[in-house]
Amino acid sequence: PLIMSQREVDGLVSIYGEALKATEERVAELRFKGHGMLAPFTAGWQSTDVHPLVIERSEGSYVYDIDGKKYLDSLAGLWCTALGGSEPRLVKAATEQLHKLPFYHSFWNRTTKPSLDLAKELLSMFTAREMGKVFFTNSGSEANDSQVKLVWYYNNALGRPDKKKFIARSKSYHGSTLISASLSGLPALHQKFDLPAPFVLHTDCPHYWRFHLPGTLNCKFTIAAFIAEPVMGAGGVIPPPKTYFEKVQVIVKKYDILFIADEVITAFGRLGTMFGSDMYNIKPDLVSMAKALSSAYVPIGAIMVSPEISDVIHSQSNKLGSFAHGFTYSGHPVACAVAIEALKIYQERNIPDHVKQISPRFQEGVKAFAGSPIVGEIRGVGLILGTEFADNKSPNDPFPAEWGVGAIFGAECQKRGMLVRVAGDNIMMSPPLIMTPDEVEELVSIYGDALKATEERVA
Ligand code: PLP
Repeated sequence: PLIMSQREVDGLVSIYGEALKATEERVAELRFKGHGMLAPFTAGWQSTDVHPLVIERSEGSYVYDIDGKKYLDSLAGLWCTALGGSEPRLVKAATEQLHKLPFYHSFWNRTTKPSLDLAKELLSMFTAREMGKVFFTNSGSEANDSQVKLVWYYNNALGRPDKKKFIARSKSYHGSTLISASLSGLPALHQKFDLPAPFVLHTDCPHYWRFHLPGTLNCKFTIAAFIAEPVMGAGGVIPPPKTYFEKVQVIVKKYDILFIADEVITAFGRLGTMFGSDMYNIKPDLVSMAKALSSAYVPIGAIMVSPEISDVIHSQSNKLGSFAHGFTYSGHPVACAVAIEALKIYQERNIPDHVKQISPRFQEGVKAFAGSPIVGEIRGVGLILGTEFADNKSPNDPFPAEWGVGAIFGAECQKRGMLVRVAGDNIMMSPPLIMTPDEVEELVSIYGDALKATEERVA
């Protein structure tokens, strides 16, 4: 205005100066192209954000960001911090082992006591059928990569060089290394990575709401193994129909196809049973584990193989002079010490039973919102839940991707102090197994409020 006073002009100049300085800082940050990480499963535009959500500490079922804001961690990290974020026994196990023996390997018949003890404990805990041996990895992806190598080695040993193909399912997630991403049935993991590798065939997943028709499983004698998560996780949380695995097992047995249970998410109580195989009466030939094996405090994965397979691997390696597969950190003593303690806690505190106690309210509380006009389906079992947003409650009417309905819901949850996993219009939750009934109520309440706010935004 032409009537401005000298003081007001001075004020304007000062605000202009401050805003310019702040903009210069932002430009300098942008010139640096955001933070220095090529971040996993993050889009380029997100990486240029110099202010990602930075989590600084954790306590029970909660995590805190660097500004001190508290969030209920409804995904337990990445489906993995089963015992929550501050279990002192795990910290003690790690510290004691670090003091005693921070590292020794397990190659050439040298090893450490924690790795031997952990293998023994895992074999005794898995009761769906008798297992023979345990092989240690550092992650779920490495576990599934190792499964493929083991199956090939086994079939070569048996003189069946053509029996090498794998059947996996669409929407499955088995990891992101070359082989485990190939096994996975999610297009984003394949696009522009020249995957999947040609030995992997993908069949349908048992998702009635979306597909209605039963899946097909075209078996040939060249098929070596079938791999499945007992409950599909990252593909959107898809529990199988009751008799699905019984029927699949009849087919794979008929064609002499090995069954690999990818229990990376389902092992150690997530479904209310110690393993997913217990829940669905699966008698696998091979099992993959990771995540809750150490409650994610340190990286570790493992595979268990049947006695028949380990016998063949042993005799083949005798012929060849060695079983030439392994990682520097296979059976890392600190990781094994933490995992041994985690397994003790699962058993002492009867964590699967705790899950059985609290999961009905978790399931029913969230599923009570299934009538929402923007919800297509809510699925889950035990302490794992998926929500799929859809228009007209129809699997054939997705919301326009640019509306970002899932992202809106995720942001509304975050605003209210809860972190969920958002994948397009799919929301996933798999909270720490040690959740209290009050925390379940809090989760349900935040979910409901965030859903209401999202409905308003969509309208
Ligand atoms: N298998 C399943 C079922 C998973 O959910 C995951 C990870 O989410 C993996 C394998 C891969 O595990 P990691 O990320 O430890 O490599």
